[in-house]
Amino acid sequence: MALIGVGLIGSSIARAARSQGTVSEIVATARSTATRRRVAELGLADQVVESNAAAVAGADLVIVCVPVGACGEVAVEIGPHLAPGAIVSDVGSVKAAVLRDMAPHLPAGVHFVPAHPVAGTENSGPDAGFAALFVGRWCILTPPEDTDNAAVGKLAAFWRALGANVETMPAAHHDLVLAITSHLPHLIAYTIVATADELAEVTRSEVLKFSAGGFRDFTRIAASDPTMWRDVFLANKDAVLEMLGTFNEDLSRIARAVRRGDGEALFEHFTRTRAIRRNIVQIGQDSPAPDFGRPHPDLPVEPLPRPYAASDEG
Ligand code: NAP
Repeated sequence: MALIGVGLIGSSIARAARSQGTVSEIVATARSTATRRRVAELGLADQVVESNAAAVAGADLVIVCVPVGACGEVAVEIGPHLAPGAIVSDVGSVKAAVLRDMAPHLPAGVHFVPAHPVAGTENSGPDAGFAALFVGRWCILTPPEDTDNAAVGKLAAFWRALGANVETMPAAHHDLVLAITSHLPHLIAYTIVATADELAEVTRSEVLKFSAGGFRDFTRIAASDPTMWRDVFLANKDAVLEMLGTFNEDLSRIARAVRRGDGEALFEHFTRTRAIRRNIVQIGQDSPAPDFGRPHPDLPVEPLPRPYAASDEG
């Protein structure tokens, strides 16, 4: 397996594939010398090489784990060096743009099966990954219609071996669904944290002090990697704007209920959203445990198991 990009997602794939014995050899590369050195120090791969082209030579499975905006240039670099019959995949949080940017540069005889593991944290880099990241999470495959079924089946089996549930859907549908479940929530978190920061000095210090009132959860999401999220919003512009339009209409309705003191409308709205949260817990996509946040270092509180402690995704 060749891994191009060994940050949070790439290093988690390396750790999980190693611990499950899913692949016989891992060859990895990253853009900077510093990251490549760190990957070697952590022992995440059997070989760490200097170029994307060198990484894919002879690989049966190539997984591109770089920001969405860099996928096209990576495809240009690796295209001529791919082995016939190789499966090429990625982990990008947007699928139609990755398909558009990568597919034209991949030679015939190579199977391109784009994928998105819907799992992650707000941390980046090779130290941030962990083997259990994908356990119980979804991995969405978005193969073009004419993709070889056997290649899709092999990649699905790979992700299942890492603990993920696998679903297949068209890239455009993926982008619409993720716009509301992931991209819009990140946009809202980035906005609310910046808005609070722009408030008057006195309020700002109190915003930090009393952050456990809800603000804290937004700050964690808003700490996510700026490059990754810039690329997501550039690549999924249409779906995000569509969902943002609907959100703005709903926000105006709620604002009107607040202004008019319409307690019945507010209560009805919050009852509906509470039921949605309970459904998410029921289908195992989050823990029912109350979220106290990160424990104070002096308190004898055990942190939650890793997949539950930080389960946002891109
Ligand atoms: P990350 O921790 O920042 O790691 C990105 C990696 O890509 C780094 O190793 C970086 O190398 C490398 N890279 C960047 N440009 C490159 C290039 N042109 N050639 C080779 N390597 C390059 O990012 P991540 O969180 O793992 O995200 C990677 C992908 O996964 C993104 O497409 C993102 O949309 C997707 N994703 C993320 C999450 C999440 O929650 N984070 C969840 C699901 C999917 P350097 O360190 O040397 O710069």
